[in-house]
This record gives sequence, C-alpha cells and structure tokens, in this order.
Amino acid sequence: MYDLLVRNALLVRPGRGVTEGNIAVKDGLIADIGDEVDGEATRVIDGEGLHVFPGVIDPHTHPGLVAPLERRLPLESRGAAAGGVTTLISYIRRPEDYRNSVPARRASAEEHLLQDFAFHVTLLNERHLDDIDMCVREFGVTSFKIYMNSRMPLSERMRMDALPGQQLNDIAAVDYDDGFLLKAFRSLADHPGVRLNIHCENSDIAIAETARVIEQGREGLAAWSESRPSIGEAVAIHTAAVMSREFGVPLYIPHVGSRTGLEAVREIKQLGTPVIVETCPHYLVLTDDADPAAKVSPPIRTPGDQKAAIEAVATGLVDTLGSDEIPYTREEKGMSTFWTENTAFSGCGLLLPVAITSGLPLEAVARATSEGPARAFGLFPRKGSLEPGCDADFAVVDVHSEREVRPAELVSSSDFSVYDGMALRGWPTLTVSRGDVIFDRGAFPARHGRGRYLFRTAEGLAGHGRA
Ligand SMILES: [Zn+2]
Repeated sequence: MYDLLVRNALLVRPGRGVTEGNIAVKDGLIADIGDEVDGEATRVIDGEGLHVFPGVIDPHTHPGLVAPLERRLPLESRGAAAGGVTTLISYIRRPEDYRNSVPARRASAEEHLLQDFAFHVTLLNERHLDDIDMCVREFGVTSFKIYMNSRMPLSERMRMDALPGQQLNDIAAVDYDDGFLLKAFRSLADHPGVRLNIHCENSDIAIAETARVIEQGREGLAAWSESRPSIGEAVAIHTAAVMSREFGVPLYIPHVGSRTGLEAVREIKQLGTPVIVETCPHYLVLTDDADPAAKVSPPIRTPGDQKAAIEAVATGLVDTLGSDEIPYTREEKGMSTFWTENTAFSGCGLLLPVAITSGLPLEAVARATSEGPARAFGLFPRKGSLEPGCDADFAVVDVHSEREVRPAELVSSSDFSVYDGMALRGWPTLTVSRGDVIFDRGAFPARHGRGRYLFRTAEGLAGHGRA
C-alpha cells in the first residue's frame, strides 16, 4: 500500500527524456517509478495531461535581506511551494563571526519553512576565514560566498541579513580586494570538496563606468547595464577561475546572464576549471527595456544576451537556475530614485513557470532547476532525482495552460513582480516534499516547520567538482 500514487503523468527525467508513467511514494521516498508501476495507495492522483518534474531546488535566495524573518519566511515558503520548490538554499551574510547567526537562522527556518533547506555562508572579511572550519564541521555548510563587486564605495552601505527577532536589517561597510580572494582560496584549499560561490563582477570597472554613466545624466535599465558592463563580469570570471585551478577549490558562479560572461564561462570550462554555473530566470525572459524595478546585479541586458542565456541552459553550458530572490516591497526597494534603488526582487515561486515559458526543452528545465543544483551542493541523488529510494520531492505541472502574472495573486511579501502582466505556462498544481503534499491547487495543507535542515558534508561534494 503506497501513501501516494500519481498515475498516467509525463515524467520529466534528465537523461531519460519525457516518458509516460506512474510515480509511487512510500514513507517520504519514491518507492517506484515507471510505466509498469501500479497498486493501492492512500491517495491517487490522476496525472493525465500533466508533467511531473523533480522538485525545484532554488540554490539562490536571500530571505534574510528583508526583516523580520518571522513574517517573511512563512509567506515566502508558501510562494515557493506554489512554484514547485521543495528545497531552498539561502545565503547568510553577517559582519560579525558566524558562531551564533547560522544556528539562529537554522532554528528560525526550522520553525517556518514547508520545504527542506540549506545555507551558503558569505565571507566578507579576513576574520570570517577563521569560521570556515566551524561552518563545515559543526554547521554542515559546505559552500561559501564572496562578492567581488563589494569594493568601496560600491559597498559602503551593504545590507546584512536579519536574525530572528530583528525588525530592521543592519548595514555594514565591506571592502573587497583580490588579495582577500586569494587568502580565501588558500583557506578553503584545506577543506577538500568545499565550494566557493563568487559574485563575478569586477569592482573597479563598475566604479569607473558607473561614474561615467551617472555624469551623462542617464537612468533606467539600459544605463544600469552600461554602468556594470559584461566585460567586468568576464574579467572577474577569469580571475576567479585562475585561482580556482591554482588552489583546486571548486567554483560556483551565480547569475551569469550576459553573452560576454557566458563566453568567459565557456573558456574557463575548456581550461578544466572545476566550475558549476548558474543563470537566473529573469535573464531568460527580460531585456533592458523592462520596468526599472528589474534593476539587479549583474544587470538584465539586450535581446542578444537573453538569447545567449537560453542557449547556454539548453546546451548545458549553464548548469543551474537560481532566482537570486530578495522579496522586497516597492517601498523597501526604494523605487523613487533609480541610482539608489536596491537591486533584486522576488521570483523564487516563478522560477519554474518562467523557465518553461522561455521555451527551454523540459528536460533542460528539470536539469537546471533540480539535478544541477543538487549536484552542485552535495545533495544528489537524495535530492534532484526521480528514482526509487530518493526523497519524494516533485511537482505536478500543467505546461500548457497559460496564466497572466498578477502580483496580488502571488503568495509573497513582495507587492510587485518584474513579470507583471506576462503570460506564463508551467504552473504547478501539486507540490510534494518528502511525500507530503505542501501545495495543492491553491491550498497549503502541510504544517510550517516540517522542513528539515540539510546538514551537508564535504565528502558529499567530492566528485561533483565538474558539471
Ligand atoms: Zn544573490
């Protein structure tokens, strides 16, 4: 007797294609899958005309950048569940040491989330390098983050993550240089298998070009794109890759969405750099004529860049899709003046529909939204795979019916969407996490706090240096 059985659906599995079949769940795991599978089940779902995707793993969210967590996390978790997301990997960044903040964030997520979760820890200064060992051994964190774009004055007022109970985000000054990056690589080389996520944008180029564009009196997304040109992204990618190869530390490069940046990715992969690369849903469907609310770094660029991003996911040059979500309200984003407006926006719950609507082959969508992030961050094959014995994490999706994005209908603390008015396909009807239905046609039947922390080990990452 199974707990759950989805019958006659189209199963989307990277490497196996899209095939008709059934999926059976027992005790939180996939008990069996395929066209021969059948039997009694507590709940049977007719999957006729629907696709089953492996549960979306969003490897790039920043829920802590909008306080307070107690109000944000439950809503954002629901919004993610409505989008087929079964695993959330969030960044933590704090100016002080991480002794207290990582356990505090874990406890808060354990109270509020519907889905399983893990963290990346941001290294902002040399003191943080002393925390790496503690994060790996005691906290099960095996991925770290460095912002190459955080040189002063770009980062003199950098927003820090909220801790539980905190009503407002605090601000700290951060000052990056390549010497710090070298020291970080040297420290991480002592922990085989640990991965370094690097925001690749060269600060000096951004500082110089921002001054030039502002002087011209321009604003809007095209000016923003020119102020942080993609050549700066390519320069940073090459710098990071040289150090990654030198120290043998695997890289993760988030949010590459420019043609020039993707060309750099192709080059460093050809050089044998152990790297996994992410792009974001907004680069797949938006260009620099979009609403200025779509200000994000790296910037959204031209139709040529957009086409390159889609192609890169389709061919596997890019391995993962991450939302880079910060669920700001318009007021928090500070929309009144363009150059001081905060970057990023919500989008985790729309990651899957946007990827499907972009026209990517469904198998490529499943690879980039689930298998890719699971492999990158030591969760595969427990996560990211629809095979017997794996966690029963999946989304039942209608890839045909179209629905327009209306911010008021989205479950989020954000009151706007950069996809406002866009007709998207690929909305989930049902989301299952470890066998529990966490989203069911508009309802959220599961208990908040059922999500489990994914304690990762460096060994889990070994062998997955390359995509
Ligand atoms: Zn980010």
